[in-house]
Amino acid sequence: MCYFRKEQPLLKNYGNRPGELFIVSGPSGVGKGTICKEVLKTESTVQLSVSATTREPREGEVHGVNYFFLSKEEFTERIENNEFLEYAEVFGNFYGTPIKPVEEKLNSGIDVLLEIDVQGAIRVKKNYPEGIFIFVLPPTLAELRRRLTNRGTDSPEVIEERLSKAMGEIKQMFEYDYFVVNDDLEEAVATTKAIILAEHHRVKDHGLELLRILEEEE
Ligand code: 5GP
Repeated sequence: MCYFRKEQPLLKNYGNRPGELFIVSGPSGVGKGTICKEVLKTESTVQLSVSATTREPREGEVHGVNYFFLSKEEFTERIENNEFLEYAEVFGNFYGTPIKPVEEKLNSGIDVLLEIDVQGAIRVKKNYPEGIFIFVLPPTLAELRRRLTNRGTDSPEVIEERLSKAMGEIKQMFEYDYFVVNDDLEEAVATTKAIILAEHHRVKDHGLELLRILEEEE
């Protein structure tokens, strides 16, 4: 009997459960930003957290959309006021996740996606171990080098720095729940969506609520 499928629209509506926090991270140049952008196109329950940074805006980047662009002083003040869920220095600039919008979204049942570096993800894990941690891997280190070179945004010295950091970061994968290999983008996006879908179907998170809905019907 296809009982649950028939009831699925009702069962999907299980009220104000807190949202899930998904953390997508991995080495620089691995394509985590592209994966997140693609995932967000179709996952209507998930919203991206807009980070704060001290780096200069790149062409086309908009304050409040891509990042909150802050001065070093403004960023430091926010650290002192405990306004970040995590922050880290990434290649000479500071990046941080503002805690308030994340909390508000999670409390109102919206899922939040953080696209952050590995140090930041490890810090989130300490503060919020209930998060779902996804590590994006390159298919090979040679391919990572090729992508960093083709991006054309970094000098050869910076590329070498990013690559030497990458292996140390990959070893931290064991702190994460899932890995996604970004070889074929479409496949990597599908895998990430599958992880999100699976996490929405955890009996431990939703079983009691589902039972309540079905019992009310009796
Ligand atoms: P980009 O300057 O290229 O936008 O980002 C550089 C790196 O900073 C990327 O690896 C990106 O994932 C990371 N990043 C962006 N926002 C945050 C954040 O809020 N916290 C941390 N820890 N890393 C971030």
